[in-house]
Amino acid sequence: MTAPKLVQGYEVVIGFETHAQLSTKSKIFSRASVAFGAEPNTQACAVDMALPGTLPVMNIGAVERAIEFGLGVNAHIAERSIFARKNYFYPDLPKGYQISQFEIPVVQGGEVSFFLEVGKETVHKTVRLERAHLEEDAGKSLHEDFVGQSGIDLNRAGTPLLEIVTQPDMRSSEEAVAYAKELHKIVTWIGICDGNMQEGSFRCDANVSVRKPGAPLGTRREIKNLNSFKFMQQAIDYEVRWQIDQLEDGHAIEQATVLFDPDTGETRAMRTKEDAADYRYFPDPDLPPLVIGRDWVERVRSEMAELPRVMAERFVKDYALPEYDATQLTQSKATAAYFEATAQACGQPKLASNWIMGEVSRRLNAAELGFDQLPVSAAQLGAMIARIQDSTINNNSAKQVFEALWNQEGEVDAIIASKGLKQMNDTGELEKIIDDVLAANPKNVEEFKAGNAKALNGLVGPIMKASKGKANPAQVNELLMKKLS
Ligand code: ADP
Ligand code: MG
Repeated sequence: MTAPKLVQGYEVVIGFETHAQLSTKSKIFSRASVAFGAEPNTQACAVDMALPGTLPVMNIGAVERAIEFGLGVNAHIAERSIFARKNYFYPDLPKGYQISQFEIPVVQGGEVSFFLEVGKETVHKTVRLERAHLEEDAGKSLHEDFVGQSGIDLNRAGTPLLEIVTQPDMRSSEEAVAYAKELHKIVTWIGICDGNMQEGSFRCDANVSVRKPGAPLGTRREIKNLNSFKFMQQAIDYEVRWQIDQLEDGHAIEQATVLFDPDTGETRAMRTKEDAADYRYFPDPDLPPLVIGRDWVERVRSEMAELPRVMAERFVKDYALPEYDATQLTQSKATAAYFEATAQACGQPKLASNWIMGEVSRRLNAAELGFDQLPVSAAQLGAMIARIQDSTINNNSAKQVFEALWNQEGEVDAIIASKGLKQMNDTGELEKIIDDVLAANPKNVEEFKAGNAKALNGLVGPIMKASKGKANPAQVNELLMKKLS
């Protein structure tokens, strides 16, 4: 481990609480639908509002997703966990309490690891999870469209959430964003959450504090509901500067909940933070303990798709790829599938990886498309790479072939033929070009012979140009050295 980066002599400490909305059809304790965007108050049933005489019934699908998550992050799945009432008054919570888990959560421990770029280095980072627990969402207060009044929409009440809590393990806003992206990848890959941040299906609270290196943890402020990676970075950076300014001015930090305002780029205190004791948690008498037998866990494990980090390890082992490549190629299921199909089509995994992480990604980004929308099939890219490998085309021409494939101009061999991109492998033809270029550039030849290695560039360029980019660069080098020695 390298020493943490300091900001104005302070170490930054960040812990995350993330609410992932589970991808069930119905609510966590009722049969009401969780579909997004319905007319206000058309999807809140008596149970969601805890009207007298109703009883919550656990949605097995939500539990199964929590188990999947726990297995996905190498956590312990509690055999027995407890639902608790978290009591507070708020207009969007007509029950007066939220059903959550407190002392005994369903998922305990676990970790999330990922790579991030620090300067020119690639650093591997592991963030420990404290817990993940099941809970219900509250309703929403509506302030637009009302003058001097607020509306309440209870459609969201009872929506199943998994709250995922980390240890305070992150040391910079960059690490925090990288963690959030990795967590997002895990929940969407497993398919327990649609990951739609705009609709609030994946929202993060960042707990931020600063301290002098070696000092005990500082007092934290919690930035609520960050729903884009960009705002996350801005909000944490602002908060860190704000806290350092306060401390430098001799003020203490007061524990608080704050909101980030994207318009001003600032965080602003919403309320001073409640302590757990303020919520008067107690076990919900309406719900029995959640008991999860080991056979259930094992069944879920056996039915789960290969996880990104397991797949990345397999790529390293089976395709002899560097760890960095394997991680990049498992950013999404679509990328991973595309890589495997390409590698199989050409038998050149490292070349396939280079192309996918390089030209293919660059082109996709420029067109704002995802891997599942790529106009070049894995079979086509594989066929093209095979033509590089067997020296039919060089890398330079391959870029033109790729562009033609992208524009649906036909198949690889036909494109190579019609565009005349075949590499010049005839030494006679190439030797003639080299002789001409040497004769036309006596100064470069002289300088090279006098020991200036750079003078060679002045010769290779014109040779490649005279060959219309079709010369084999390795062959050019070899012949050139022979003639100059
Ligand atoms: P609460 O649920 O009341 O917000 P928790 O104890 O569950 O409190 O902690 C919430 C989050 O705050 C966790 O992710 C934890 O890692 C993080 N955290 C705790 N102390 C600090 C601190 N001093 N600085 C930054 N993050 C912290
Ligand atoms: Mg909290």
